[in-house]
Amino acid sequence: MSSCFISDLHLDDAREDIKKTFFKFLDDEAPKFDNLYILGDLFEVWIGDDYQDTLSVEVIKRLKAFSYTGKKIYFMHGNRDFLLGHKFAESCGGKIISDPYVFKVKDKKVMLSHGDIFCIDDLDYQNFKNTVRSEKWKTNFLSKDLSERNAIAKKLREESAQKNLEKKAFLMDVNKGEVNRVAQKYDIDILIHGHVHRPKTHIEDYGTRIVLGDWDRKYWFITLIDQEVNLISGKVK
Ligand code: MN
Repeated sequence: MSSCFISDLHLDDAREDIKKTFFKFLDDEAPKFDNLYILGDLFEVWIGDDYQDTLSVEVIKRLKAFSYTGKKIYFMHGNRDFLLGHKFAESCGGKIISDPYVFKVKDKKVMLSHGDIFCIDDLDYQNFKNTVRSEKWKTNFLSKDLSERNAIAKKLREESAQKNLEKKAFLMDVNKGEVNRVAQKYDIDILIHGHVHRPKTHIEDYGTRIVLGDWDRKYWFITLIDQEVNLISGKVK
């Protein structure tokens, strides 16, 4: 069994280059693996499965074609696209997995996460997350018409960007104590996550923590072949 992992593409109308790089990845790299895991923030924003634009239609078409070749696609929610629903996943031929998600490769335990669950020092963010991830907030938001949802999402992104400017660097990274706690609780050997945009392979007491990067100037993916993990990157063009 082999898998590849990506996250934080932040696909957006304004970034034709990232979209093209993603489709090239689907054509050239992803087919070498049995499973494709998209660990959150595939889209810069997602306001509901009933919203369609050229980008979303094209992405669904490409992922569907990929799944038709017999490959498995798994989606995890990111903080930008936590409203991706089963309708979206099914139309791509994939399925949504929970965060964190744990599976075994022979005798090794692998944990996947978007990564924001480990950013516990950023209380302001965790409070915001608790609010918008509640069923009540989501139901209320999805009941609004698309233009209103667009306006709310835009405002939230602007507020978050403003707040992030003021936040100290450690707030934007994982809390190592929390990572260790979760790693011990689940007895994992390998942790793969994104979100913090600090791509790196960390050797820890419990095993390996390997962090994906965002797709801005470079694209990043992680490969898992048998029990071996590797972080790979190339240029977005
Ligand atoms: Mn994120």
